Amino acid sequence: MKYFLAIIGGGPAGYNAAEKASKAGKDVILFEQNSLGGTCLNVGCIPTKSLLYGAKQYYNATHAQRYGVTATDVTFDFAAMQKRKTIVVRKLVAGIKQRLNNEHCTVVNGMAKPLPISPKGEENKSIRIECNGETYEAENLMICTGSTNFVPPIPGIKENPAIWDSTDALAATELPESIVIVGGGVIGMEFATLYHELGVSVTVIEAMPTILPNLDQDVVQILLDKYRKAGINILTSTKVTKIEGNEVYVESSEKDAQWSRISPSKILVSVGRRANLNGLEALEGLEMERGVIKVDDFCRTNLPNVYACGDVTGKIMLAHVASRQAEVAVEKMLSLSLEGGSINYNAIPSVVYTNPEIASVGLTESQAKAMEIPVEVRQLPMTFSGRFMAENDGETGLCKMIIDSRNNAIIGVHCIGNPCSEFISSASCAVSKGYTLAEFQQVVFPHPTVSEILHEII
Ligand code: NAD
Repeated sequence: MKYFLAIIGGGPAGYNAAEKASKAGKDVILFEQNSLGGTCLNVGCIPTKSLLYGAKQYYNATHAQRYGVTATDVTFDFAAMQKRKTIVVRKLVAGIKQRLNNEHCTVVNGMAKPLPISPKGEENKSIRIECNGETYEAENLMICTGSTNFVPPIPGIKENPAIWDSTDALAATELPESIVIVGGGVIGMEFATLYHELGVSVTVIEAMPTILPNLDQDVVQILLDKYRKAGINILTSTKVTKIEGNEVYVESSEKDAQWSRISPSKILVSVGRRANLNGLEALEGLEMERGVIKVDDFCRTNLPNVYACGDVTGKIMLAHVASRQAEVAVEKMLSLSLEGGSINYNAIPSVVYTNPEIASVGLTESQAKAMEIPVEVRQLPMTFSGRFMAENDGETGLCKMIIDSRNNAIIGVHCIGNPCSEFISSASCAVSKGYTLAEFQQVVFPHPTVSEILHEII
């Protein structure tokens, strides 16, 4: 049998593509070597959010006095939090399996490898994939093999039992007493939040002068101040020179640096992820760009009928980007491009699940300036929202709106304050559709919600 589409990788890119193409009546085969759901569902977004929610419950219970509630003898059971996380993940994985079954998509559990794409000059080229000793044929191939944790070349990092990556940290059933987190990016700061809220002594080591360097720095500063005041040791402009057992040797370019060596129970390394290209060796001539598969606006690679979506394309390593890429690619494959169009990488929302959360979409003030876009910046503390005041005692928060002064279009929104993750999508609509301030002002926001800050700011 010749499938219309063969997909390698069952993460958000792969399973969404499979479902969409199957729904359109096409024969689809999806190969996944581990569990359906990919990094996001199994060892990424969902397990971290499940654990973070448990930690937040504990933190809120122990910090409830400010709301007139006294909770005594509050304890937590980390193993129980882990168990709940596993149940959440299992249910969601089962849900994906069911969805693909409903659409009669064939799912093969195993490591798939594309075979060389037919000899030169042969007509009616067909794509063949080998998996578990069987060969499968398809008209189109979609590579959705994701990414893996990057291991930096720090002496002493390899085969060291004190070192964790995010997958190890998510699997641990016991909390370390203390932890050093190498990398103050998204993964690093989310784990810093989890461990800090559960009473673990946390040090974050970030090579750049600031944590979360790609985000709006006024927003980040609020988090940095709060976390430092709360006792998280955040060392910026600091590099790890070597690790010996659980001894972390650091070097800082800051004048008043106090640390040269730290000895935590565990060391979590979270310094980025790299495209997973394993098994793709036979795709001769597949064009790469700085370690990722090069794709066009419709996720087409340079090889005919070969698409790539998700982290392996290195565009923006987020599950929702992968899902949208998959939609766009399948629409292209089905020649439905008029229906959906392409993907607007300038309007991708992102959230960092710290406490408070950070959510943003579009350009930051400094990115806009670097692009020589004349901007007007409007900003307000979140306390302008009544609901925020009612529910976020002791917090100020911030919402910044970046406006292109040439046409008054909203080109970026950056917030810190709970629960901004839940309303950044309204700002995404504005940025994605290029709304002007006047147009966005006509949108009615429900009262009292924290989302009203987006209206107040106008
Ligand atoms: P990242 O790129 O967000 O952050 C890595 C950080 O490590 C950077 O700040 C970098 O300056 C720093 N760094 C690099 N080398 C270093 C070194 N040797 N010593 C100290 N610091 C060093 O990467 P990540 O946090 O590993 O996340 C990986 C990917 O997963 C990202 O694309 C991220 O967006 C995604 N992710 C998203 C979410 C979310 O959407 N909430 C959550 C987790 C991960």
